[in-house]
Amino acid sequence: MIRFDRVVKRFGANVVLDELDFAVRPGERVTLIGPSGSGKTTILRLLMTLERVDGGTIHVGGECLTHVRRGERLVPADEKHLREVRKRIGMVFQQFNLFPNMRVLRNVTEAPVHVLGLPVQEARQRARELLEVVGLADKLDAYPAQLSGGQQQRVAIARALAMRPDVLLLDEITSALDPELAAEVLDVLRDVARTSDITMLCVTHAMKFARDVSHRVLMFDRGRILEDKPPQELFERPEHERTRRFLRSVL
Ligand code: ADP
Repeated sequence: MIRFDRVVKRFGANVVLDELDFAVRPGERVTLIGPSGSGKTTILRLLMTLERVDGGTIHVGGECLTHVRRGERLVPADEKHLREVRKRIGMVFQQFNLFPNMRVLRNVTEAPVHVLGLPVQEARQRARELLEVVGLADKLDAYPAQLSGGQQQRVAIARALAMRPDVLLLDEITSALDPELAAEVLDVLRDVARTSDITMLCVTHAMKFARDVSHRVLMFDRGRILEDKPPQELFERPEHERTRRFLRSVL
């Protein structure tokens, strides 16, 4: 569902990803962990096409995200291609980024109606179902500012799922929340994980969540994958001293 082939990303002289390879199978839930600055967010931003690669290719759902074919040649993807691929990718950010002037229901129906062209009634029906899944069936008419941070984040999850993406990207989605609200959001995601076969790629410092929900955890250090293992194994038998040191600092 996701494939990075020899992906290079630089910021000036800083080589953040140096020929990075990894793949995520359909339905797999993969968590990226590692020290700050190791390139985890850059990977999500590349998938969201908020950044462009300096080398290599990225595929999502079998389709090339980074390049399009022009005759015999592969050329960097244009904005039209990126818009199409982006529809298949849902993202939830640390700062919920809801539309402040729209009620909860409208926040969830807006993109399905205006980007996918879904009929309004159908979009509303689906939004109601999703808001029920995230435990907010009684908040359809609230504005974001009337909700707690945890509730806003749950709306953001429903909004991302409303696009029926192939892939859900989660970037530190609980780090702006108090522990209790963070737990609420993680419970909702556990439910989503249990009841859907959506492919998830998460960056998180919430190790319990990584352990409970992921099939694989990738430990990053300076843009490289140091370990790639099922969570149980990584947490109980880390291979590298760097991983042990990192785990000690977050557990
Ligand atoms: P992580 O998510 O693991 O903390 P990031 O992907 O945010 O790491 O950052 C990896 C490296 O890329 C860091 O050295 C960071 O300073 C650099 N970086 C990230 N985004 C930018 C940017 N927009 N401009 C310049 N450098 C950046």
